[in-house]
Amino acid sequence: MTEDVHAERRERAAARLRETGADGLVCFPSRNLQYLTGFAEEPGERHLLLVVPAGDRATDGASLPEPEFLVPALYETQVREETTVDAVRTWADGDDPTVAVRDLLGDLGLREGRLLVDDTMWATFTQDLRSAAPDAAWGLASEALADLRVRKDEAELDAMRAAAVAADETVRDLRELGADALGMTECDLADWVADRLAAHGGEGTSFETIVGAGPNGAKPHHGCGDREIRAGEPVVLDFGTRVDGYPSDQTRTLVFDREPPAEYERVHETVREAQAAAVEAVEPGVAAEVIDRAAREVIEDAGYGDAFFHRTGHGVGLDVHEEPYVVAGNDRELEPGMVFSVEPGIYLDGRFGCRIEDLVVVTGDGCERLNDTDRGWR
Ligand code: ZN
Ligand code: ZN
Repeated sequence: MTEDVHAERRERAAARLRETGADGLVCFPSRNLQYLTGFAEEPGERHLLLVVPAGDRATDGASLPEPEFLVPALYETQVREETTVDAVRTWADGDDPTVAVRDLLGDLGLREGRLLVDDTMWATFTQDLRSAAPDAAWGLASEALADLRVRKDEAELDAMRAAAVAADETVRDLRELGADALGMTECDLADWVADRLAAHGGEGTSFETIVGAGPNGAKPHHGCGDREIRAGEPVVLDFGTRVDGYPSDQTRTLVFDREPPAEYERVHETVREAQAAAVEAVEPGVAAEVIDRAAREVIEDAGYGDAFFHRTGHGVGLDVHEEPYVVAGNDRELEPGMVFSVEPGIYLDGRFGCRIEDLVVVTGDGCERLNDTDRGWR
């Protein structure tokens, strides 16, 4: 991803802060920090913060102070090399980081006013911020950033397209595996999937791979276990990888050898039709809940309404689950650039499950499917 992308996002974030009446934003190692700077790091016990001042509302940010990092000294080189944030101040082990936090907020004029903090920030850091700015009012970063992150820019879409290709190629490999999968345990197969995702250019897995064989497939978030893959048994495979930090998330339900139970074919066809109906309904201006309804109607009409007990989809970005949620009651209108999953399922307790999941991007007049591999069970 080019450096300009992140600088431009920081400017848009500052503008959003002004619009929402906030004076500044404080991130710690999080998806928001990655979105704004490209710096991806797991949270740790040392204070590592990025402060983004909103700038002057009266002049619409004409006098915008620069965003500034406060990082442990051992991170300085890394942060300077991997981000385009010029202002980086450090504190060393043995210093009191809370003093550095107070100084930073003071220098940026942010010891009062309204400050937004990362939704996922550890309490230890939010408490220190409160002490450093006792007169400030507080809110969550999502108030300003969710609206930016929900519409993906071209750099994000390119990464997600590449991650989706890795998932599609892996599904093709699974079909070729066929009867060779028999006797592998669910977790063996999950490991095999992880290897194939990496071979197709993916970076790790974007969440714990789900391999649900037979009755385990009826538990939507099963994970994997030591059950062996058997002939004639549907297997729910839900997996993803990342490219440039952006995930894919795809589900296919496959039968590796011989024929599934007679009712399974009807279930699979119903899920496939439900998914197609939901994708067909995607266009800008349509409420997210309408997409959920489109899938649910097909499944209800087939008599399996009670067996589809989760939402139809979720937004996907740096977080695998984010806005917009495709769920009853969400009247948020779809906009070009939003990316979300369409993943209806039918789960028959004690017998089998079936889910088919693809990602779509809302376009100017409909949607682009990020996944295009066969949706059949064979
Ligand atoms: Zn999934
Ligand atoms: Zn999903």
